[in-house]
Order: sequence, then structure tokens, then C-alpha cells
Amino acid sequence: MDDRQFRNAMGKFATGVTVVATEVDSKVHGMTANAFMSVSLNPKLVVVSIAEKAQMLEKIYQSGKFSVNILAANQQELSMIFAGQVKNHQEVVFDQLGGVPVLPGAVVQITCEVTAAHVEGDHTLFIGKVTNIQLEDSEPLIYYSGKYRLMAEG
Ligand code: FAD
Repeated sequence: MDDRQFRNAMGKFATGVTVVATEVDSKVHGMTANAFMSVSLNPKLVVVSIAEKAQMLEKIYQSGKFSVNILAANQQELSMIFAGQVKNHQEVVFDQLGGVPVLPGAVVQITCEVTAAHVEGDHTLFIGKVTNIQLEDSEPLIYYSGKYRLMAEG
């Protein structure tokens, strides 16, 4: 089994797209991530998986907080910006929710406090205790097989 086969197989799991954001020394840092899931209802916990090479790793360790912003169908460009795929982009303005930066226009904004960090292979799983949620009634952006998609009714 090679890396390409593993990536191709994992890419067959259709997901939404999130931007994980945190703030250190009054500077907001965002990163596109689709390795996100709900972990527990009571207490309310979520998990994100951050690569060891990502700048975001140290930032979350420093702040102890992060937000997960589930992108809307019209936010593909933001996904590309926060994946480092757009050079010379416009400044992105964040809102604040309970002292954590969140992305305006996202379908869902979730803020968390880190309760645990598990290093697994070349990624770190941050468990976040949910402190705030804001929900919009709009369609999410979808990611499947390395491409952005829009939802269709079945
Ligand atoms: P950088 O590469 O330095 O920053 C990312 C980009 O965001 C830069 O272009 C930077 O200019 C911009 N940026 C950051 N903060 C701001 C700000 N405040 N205002 C404006 N622009 C800003 N990686 C994972 O580890 N886990 C995942 O689950 C994951 N899922 C992904 C899903 C998709 C669909 C894609 C496309 C990529 C995914 N990645 C994931 C890869 C990850 O998004 C990139 O490797 C990313 O570049 C890593 O970010 P970084 O923290 O190293 O910071």
C-alpha cells in the first residue's frame, strides 16, 4: 500500500470543509481542515487533526483554544486561502465569539477549549470542549476525492 492509494481511499469519504482558527498575541491564524468530527455529547467534545508540519499546531498549544468554522457553499475561496493555495489574497476579517476568532458567513461556528492533545503518527488530535455554537441556515461546502462539490438532493 503506498501513500497515494491511502490518500485516494480516504478521499472517498465525503466531508464538509472547515477553517480552524485561533489567536496568539492578538494575531489570528486560520487553517483549512476536513479532519474534524464530533466526539461526545455529554460533555460536548469535538476533535480536529493537525499535521505536525502545520503552523497551526504550535498556535493551538499556545492559545489552548480554537474555533471550527464549517464553510458555506460560497466559501470555497476561503478554503483555498487557508490551505495556502491563494497568494496575494485580500485580508480576511474575523468576528469574535466568547474571545475566540470565528469566520463570518460560516454555516456553523464552534468555539472550544483544548482538553487533550494526542500525538498520533504525523498528526496531533486536539480534543476540544465546546464553549459556544452559532448556526446559520445555509448549505455547506463539500469535499470529495480531492475536489470541491455542492450538495444535491437525493
Ligand atoms: P500556513 O500555511 O502558514 O497558513 C495557511 C494559509 O492561511 C496561508 O496562506 C496564510 O496566509 C493564510 N492565513 C492564516 N491566517 C490568516 C489570517 N488571519 N488572515 C488571512 N490569511 C491567513 N491539514 C491538516 O493538518 N489537517 C486537516 O484536516 C487538513 N484538511 C485539509 C482539507 C482540505 C480540503 C485542504 C485543501 C487542506 C487540508 N489540510 C489539512 C492542509 C492545510 O490546510 C494546509 O497544509 C495549510 O497550509 C496548513 O496551514 P499552516 O497552519 O501550516 O499555516
